[in-house]
Amino acid sequence: MSGLFTAAFLRQSGWDAEVYERSTAELAGRGAGITTHPELLEALQKSGAGTRDLGVEVEKRIALDRTGRVIGEKHLRQVLTSWDRLQRLLRATIDPAHYHLGWNFERVEQEGCGVRVHFSGGRVEHGAILVGGDGIRSGVRAAIMPEVQPIYAGYYIWRGAPNEADLSRRALNEVFPYFSFFLPPRQEVICYPIAGFNDDLRPGYRRFNFIWYRVADATLLKEMCVDDKGHQHDYSVPPPRIRKDLITGLRDEAEEALPPAINDCLRAIEQPFFTPIYDFIAPRIVSGRVALVGDAASNARPHMGFGVSKAACDAQALADALRDHDDIDTALAEYNRIRQPIGEIIVRHSRKLGTHMGVNLQTDEDRAMHQLLQDPRAMMDWIAVPNFLDAYR
Ligand SMILES: Cc1cc2nc3c(=O)[nH]c(=O)nc-3n(C[C@H](O)[C@H](O)[C@H](O)COP(=O)(O)OP(=O)(O)OC[C@H]3O[C@@H](n4cnc5c(N)ncnc54)[C@H](O)[C@@H]3O)c2cc1C
Repeated sequence: MSGLFTAAFLRQSGWDAEVYERSTAELAGRGAGITTHPELLEALQKSGAGTRDLGVEVEKRIALDRTGRVIGEKHLRQVLTSWDRLQRLLRATIDPAHYHLGWNFERVEQEGCGVRVHFSGGRVEHGAILVGGDGIRSGVRAAIMPEVQPIYAGYYIWRGAPNEADLSRRALNEVFPYFSFFLPPRQEVICYPIAGFNDDLRPGYRRFNFIWYRVADATLLKEMCVDDKGHQHDYSVPPPRIRKDLITGLRDEAEEALPPAINDCLRAIEQPFFTPIYDFIAPRIVSGRVALVGDAASNARPHMGFGVSKAACDAQALADALRDHDDIDTALAEYNRIRQPIGEIIVRHSRKLGTHMGVNLQTDEDRAMHQLLQDPRAMMDWIAVPNFLDAYR
């Protein structure tokens, strides 16, 4: 996302921007849901991607108790989109001649007034700048700041996106139309409707984004990252390789723990998968002629659903700085000055919201926030709401 946004904005101001993606096939997002924010909508418009058929609009949030009774409501119109839809809109802004699949970044050499970038297979490209939009485990960041490493938050998410057509009548009536919350102690279940396969927004053809936050210490996470063939993975396990005993355990637990309509949603997910939550702050996001954007620059826990919005704003700010300054080094310094502190604010805010999970509460402020967020109404007021950055301006 950040790479595509960056290329779209840079091309608008006359730069020749080339996108190098390590995947050999067009990317797909496994139905991941993305909450939208005003910043994202604006960036989509300005980048030329547009917001056509962006997603599903919900009118309100609801919180359920274990029996399925609605215990809280908040009216908040919000468009929920999907990773696939955003990728498709942004991908269309880049001429295929400038989008290169199967290019795996390996290292960068900084020359006086540019970069020499090495990719797998001995391929080398030269440029005035290198923008690292290569995600939380960024190889570009590792090349310029190897000391900055993502930190495990102490919790992970079970996820999936069942088809609307596979949901029970109970789930369709009680939770599908809403941004739904179920919030037992040290857990969060969040669900909302998104577009279906091929961005289909027709009733009956949409999907339902399901997320269940669970606490796990590093030892338990490591054990979960052993796959069905006994292979230990570093960070997470590709969905088809997740051990069956974990999925059986999840489903058994859900029968007892979840409101019936939400459990119906989990039952409709053929292959639930898990994502451990990490975050980090980088002290700078520029080094010489290398700039970082999106998750490569800083990565917040996903409680605000703001990662793609942040990526879009980084990309826009970088292109604006390069447009407004004749000298590239001055422009990059300006980009760092503006965006590094914002990235840091976003990560710290996500840690505040993460206190709901009750993990590693270190200060009185953490404990007070944890207490506050035990009230479902507070969660509905804080989680993935628009304009949360206004409080920091
Ligand atoms: C559970 C969860 C829920 C989320 N919910 C939301 C939400 O509701 N709303 C929201 O806005 N955000 C959400 N996010 C965050 C969002 O997904 C990310 O912030 C966003 O995808 C970041 O985009 P990016 O382009 O910076 O990085 P990525 O999406 O990680 O993309 C990096 C790209 O770089 C490529 N790459 C990596 N290494 C190399 C290399 N060596 N050479 C070449 N290419 C390489 C990768 O293949 C990939 O295509 C969520 C995240 C999680 C984990």
